[in-house]
Amino acid sequence: MARRKKKFPCGHRGYGQICHRCAQQDEARARKQREKQSWKETFERDPIDLTNLPKNVVIKARKIIVGIQKQRDYREFRGKRLRHDRFVISIPVTRNYRLICRDCGSILVPEAVISHEDYNVCKPGG
Ligand SMILES: [Zn+2]
Repeated sequence: MARRKKKFPCGHRGYGQICHRCAQQDEARARKQREKQSWKETFERDPIDLTNLPKNVVIKARKIIVGIQKQRDYREFRGKRLRHDRFVISIPVTRNYRLICRDCGSILVPEAVISHEDYNVCKPGG
């Protein structure tokens, strides 16, 4: 029996019982879904909420957070104490985002990642 391409209900042509192009698309879609889900789950381990931030900001912020948790000096990350509140340390994450930490004596506690706009708003007189 000669193998002849047939037309599937989806409109693609191919061999066999199912359309392999559609099967591949379904597989790719499922994979994307799984990746999305596992990316979502990584946020459960963050000490602060990073869910609404761009992916690159999340990744960089986590590196800084881990560094701080390992007692690395915030100055290694170009962090600075705020002039009006010496217990608050601002560490640049990207050009537009910074990580705000509180100096609790022996440890730094990450409080939030904020955008440059938010940062300027909450700065008194700034
Ligand atoms: Zn198809």
